[in-house]
Amino acid sequence: MDDTNLPENPDGGFRSGYVALVGRPNVGKSTLLNRLVGQKLAIVTPKPQTTRRRVVGIWSDDTHQMIFLDTPGLIRPRYRLQSFMLQVARSAVSEADVILALHDATDGVDVLQETLHESAKGRGRLIVALNKIDLIKKERLLPMIDQLSRELADTPLVPVSALRGENVEALWDELREALPIGPPYYPPEAVTEHPERFFVAEIVREQILFQFRDEVPYATEVEVERFEESPGRKDEIDAVIYVERPSQKGILIGNRGAAIKALGIAARAEIEAFLERPVVLKLFVKVVPGWRRDARALRRMGFMT
Ligand code: GDP
Ligand code: MG
Repeated sequence: MDDTNLPENPDGGFRSGYVALVGRPNVGKSTLLNRLVGQKLAIVTPKPQTTRRRVVGIWSDDTHQMIFLDTPGLIRPRYRLQSFMLQVARSAVSEADVILALHDATDGVDVLQETLHESAKGRGRLIVALNKIDLIKKERLLPMIDQLSRELADTPLVPVSALRGENVEALWDELREALPIGPPYYPPEAVTEHPERFFVAEIVREQILFQFRDEVPYATEVEVERFEESPGRKDEIDAVIYVERPSQKGILIGNRGAAIKALGIAARAEIEAFLERPVVLKLFVKVVPGWRRDARALRRMGFMT
């Protein structure tokens, strides 16, 4: 039978699917997600393990819908929260139609093996993005691309800079091509599936990652306890910051409350920019001893283990 005249796609050409962003901590997964959806959805800091939960970003046009899943970095878990984080990354891989594996061009090529190993557990089409190409010289980049493309054989390899948006168009081309035929899952204007309070809590946590050092950011979780919108008034937001030890609470509050005040000012500015409206933000600090290793505390905070 001659099928050259059949339409290529019986659904009218629409393609849709889940794209999981995976890779080691700090390779630029969240930066790339924000770049791809054109909006800052995922928090980004120079610190590893910034992303703890799955963050969904949706991008649509007339012919495609991509649901990007940003994930925590692939790490060997040392405590229960990290086990949850690895589980999040793995379940995104298993759900995805396309697996976008990221490699940091400043890392050795061997580091990519583990990411490829995890990616191979899914059934999705694999694309490898070589990120942070702005950081290395052409003389080093080109041999690296050579070596990687030989090793990856038929798997597409796309060098990009997520931070600067370099060569991201080439990545879009690969993504469009890899996407299976299917209907849109979300309305065309949807950008995410998370409620606003999710982003508010993440923004407060981002500011904690920026303003505090050592173990404090890692021992911290943020939960929005109250989010009240009333007409003609500013939104009122109460956020609770959980820490593991009284000493960490002391650090967060600071001398005469100076640290928490600075945190509140910075977080409020970011929240207002995100929501595009003014808010009143109140921060509270509570100690939940060892919450990162405590299954019950983790479940209560929404980390399913
Ligand atoms: P993730 O842990 O994989 O989600 O990585 P992030 O997106 O949080 O980024 C980690 C750090 O790398 C941040 O400081 C980013 O600004 C930085 N980064 C991400 N992409 C690039 C890039 O293309 N070029 C450079 N120079 N830095 C980048
Ligand atoms: Mg991240």
